[in-house]
Amino acid sequence: MRLARTAIAMVVWTLVLILPCAQAQSAANPIKAVRLGKLWDAKGKLWTNAIVIVEGERIRSVTTDASAIPADAEVIDLSKYTGIPGLIDVHTHMTMYTDETPGTPMLKQITNNPPAVEVFLARKGALRTLEAGVTTVRDLSADQYMDIAMRDLINQGEMIGPRMFVSGYGVYATQTPTKKDMAIPGSVAADGVPQVLKAVREQVAAGVDLIKMYASTGTDDDVTGFETYTYEEIKAAVDMAHKFGKKIAIHSYGPDGARDAVRAGTDSLEHATGMDDATIQEMVKRGTYYVPTIDHNRYYIDNGDKIGYAPGYKEKLRAFIPRNLETARRAFKAGVKIAMGSDAIYTMFGQNTRELGWFVKAGMTPEQALHTATGTAAELLGKEKELGAVAPGYFADLVAVEGDPLADINVAIYNVKWVMKAGSVVVDNRKSAKN
Ligand SMILES: [Zn+2]
Repeated sequence: MRLARTAIAMVVWTLVLILPCAQAQSAANPIKAVRLGKLWDAKGKLWTNAIVIVEGERIRSVTTDASAIPADAEVIDLSKYTGIPGLIDVHTHMTMYTDETPGTPMLKQITNNPPAVEVFLARKGALRTLEAGVTTVRDLSADQYMDIAMRDLINQGEMIGPRMFVSGYGVYATQTPTKKDMAIPGSVAADGVPQVLKAVREQVAAGVDLIKMYASTGTDDDVTGFETYTYEEIKAAVDMAHKFGKKIAIHSYGPDGARDAVRAGTDSLEHATGMDDATIQEMVKRGTYYVPTIDHNRYYIDNGDKIGYAPGYKEKLRAFIPRNLETARRAFKAGVKIAMGSDAIYTMFGQNTRELGWFVKAGMTPEQALHTATGTAAELLGKEKELGAVAPGYFADLVAVEGDPLADINVAIYNVKWVMKAGSVVVDNRKSAKN
């Protein structure tokens, strides 16, 4: 009896142990073959009847030869659609998401919630971001290292969202001409070179991917652009970031902070308006990336009452947008590298790619606009060999849109039907009521 029972137990245990292992092994590197009517690969090629073969989280090959589809592949038929690479938004504030609780201004909501609550709520913004076809973000400032927590939860598969590259706290100066008690959420005050160096070191020690610095006033309904740091302070931050192999993104609404940030060697310049020709030429020479963030001003105009801005904000923002657009137009014409950043915050997630519409207004073709959110953005991240294109060895980040995004940029902005991130389908709206 005892022997028999042991034998049965052994059989049961063998099944329990072996079956999940076998499943896990076949699930570890599943092969998928994604068929697309057209494919813009961001490498200079527009394919017809493309087949993207995905193994695990990477792209194994791109082909038009159906006989190359492995027998055990799961075939996903998107032949009605055009494929583009998963898009990259290089300026977000993922942990400053709000859940639109009525009655409380959103400006208050993002600081009211404890960090754990805020990170949990932020998953909704993360999903909306994916639904816009954005599979990677560069997140520029967060309180309490919520961005690091969110990045890691997403990487562990505990939260569904875009791949995040994060900056921790943004470094800012205490005294400014317009806001003496300026306390930007997600920022650390640092005055003078030693404090700036300490603030940068602290972010690196916490585990950030890059550094964010505010070199001017201007945020939300405040469209002033007074420089808040000296050249020496900015240079110290840039050099310390680079010493640790980190890139730095510098915020400046106005031309003075922009000029000093560029001269100091910033990797990217956020927002800047009114730059003179010398600064623009310096950006071309150095290869500085410009992230104009025009559309967030539009979002503030549409939502300022809910956010809680003081009356008069619409006029200020309406006057700022043409300056922002004109600077982008001049920079693009001069040959500055431009990357797409939405500055998404509050409830703007899901509207991340509307910036591309402004880029077309600034003189880009739809294809050039798409490059700002694919190849160019990936270069800014230092990930141009694995993100921002549909090619062998790259992460299998793929978006299917309905229509021709090279003829009309609105197709990429508003007609996203299906999204794959690292080989997993994260959005499938092919059968939604909208169709
Ligand atoms: Zn921002």
